[in-house]
Amino acid sequence: MTIDVYLKKLKEDGFKITPKRKATIELFSKKKSYLSPQEVLEKLGNHFPGISSSTVYRILEELQDTGILIKIEHEDRQLYYFLCRMPDQHHHHFICRKCRRIEEVELCNLKELERFISKNLNCKVENHSVRLEGLCSHCK
Ligand SMILES: [Zn+2]
Ligand SMILES: [Zn+2]
Ligand SMILES: [Zn+2]
Repeated sequence: MTIDVYLKKLKEDGFKITPKRKATIELFSKKKSYLSPQEVLEKLGNHFPGISSSTVYRILEELQDTGILIKIEHEDRQLYYFLCRMPDQHHHHFICRKCRRIEEVELCNLKELERFISKNLNCKVENHSVRLEGLCSHCK
């Protein structure tokens, strides 16, 4: 799996491609699943001895801000991060509350809601995020 699309997204959002940011993205692209900040810290520690947990948290938050990673808090209150598979286009996420699988949802039909807000509240919607939760096809 190539990580070029993620590096491009980083640049577009004004972030420098540092070795640590790149290594973090590579880590997720290899694992193809979710990682807790603690796991990221352990894995990055192999390449960057002495890296602090605050550095790891900062990188994870930065990558979340760009939409490269998705942060979820599981029912056990543990934080996890996922790699979004299509960071270069507008879409939404479905999160399975049982197995924590994330599905990419390409459909977005919130135009009507945006029109409602503009008409009835006289506000201009510039952005939105929707997170859908439930049970995936394996767990339902
Ligand atoms: Zn996504
Ligand atoms: Zn599931
Ligand atoms: Zn949308």
